[in-house]
Amino acid sequence: MQLIDGKHVASLIQAEIAQEVQNLKEKGQKIPHLAAVLVGNDAPSETYVNGKVKACHNVGFGSTLLRFPDTISETALLAEIEKLNQNPEIDGFIVQLPLPKHIDVVKITEAIDYRKDVDGFHPINVGRMAKNLPAYISATPLGILKLLEYYQIPTVGRHCVVLGRSHIVGSPMSILMARNTPIGNSTVTLCHSKTQNLAEYTRQADILIAAIGIPQFVKADMVKEGAIVIDVGINRIEDTKRKSGFRLVGDVDFEKVAPRCYAITPVPGGVGPMTITALMLNTLLAAQKKVYG
Ligand code: NDP
Repeated sequence: MQLIDGKHVASLIQAEIAQEVQNLKEKGQKIPHLAAVLVGNDAPSETYVNGKVKACHNVGFGSTLLRFPDTISETALLAEIEKLNQNPEIDGFIVQLPLPKHIDVVKITEAIDYRKDVDGFHPINVGRMAKNLPAYISATPLGILKLLEYYQIPTVGRHCVVLGRSHIVGSPMSILMARNTPIGNSTVTLCHSKTQNLAEYTRQADILIAAIGIPQFVKADMVKEGAIVIDVGINRIEDTKRKSGFRLVGDVDFEKVAPRCYAITPVPGGVGPMTITALMLNTLLAAQKKVYG
């Protein structure tokens, strides 16, 4: 069984990005700058945003963190987004989700200039990604593609089963794996909460990508011998042995599933570090105007 080490691959890619930043500096060109918008005090969101700001620092990007109280109105938030759209210093920006209930996430997503939408959530980027045109691919799916590429996992003609159809992970992942691209060309089955006899599909998967948000949902008897398993889930479960009182587990029962696999991602240390790295890659592309010119 091969452990797919996202931490390692992420550090290699981040070193390449840092080198690229160095090259830009030497040529006297603009350093990439990512802004992050954080509304409210959701603890996991704070952690994710801090991780993104830290990654910017590590690769040499500029970063701006804009914090707003959860009482901010939708109109005021839209005005802040417009400021970022217009600010030539900012190459790309993200609005950390989830947003408070009184703010329409679709409106916010669509208000972001698609040329600065390094999260790849704007319908223009999603549509262009689906049509295999240059686009920002959302960070978690892009990170998974990079992992498959690094480990030279064959995807062409394989059966890829994706669990979960969220707009940020499952749905784009299923589209990407089916595209006519070197990492792609799989036959894809997309499962969700209404799928009947789910295990019948998962057992057929050469590549199983789990993104449902249920701790250790995928059991050993749901996985084919020799499968490649990509576990996207990040779930907290109680662990009284830890000072924090919890630990992180994926959507896959790693201990039982791993021995059956050809390769598998751990949680933590698999997909998670690749997500942040992919965001850095998109920000670099934005600064270099490589997607939209
Ligand atoms: P969502 O809650 O948005 O989507 C979950 C999806 O799983 C839905 O499509 C849902 O189906 C489906 N689902 C729920 N229960 C079942 C079930 N019993 N059987 C089959 N499908 C089911 O989650 P996200 O996509 O945002 O995130 C998924 C997981 O990935 C979470 O643990 C999250 O924390 C993690 N995550 C990790 C990232 C990383 O960097 N590693 C980045 C983003 C997310 P339906 O549509 O029918 O409701």
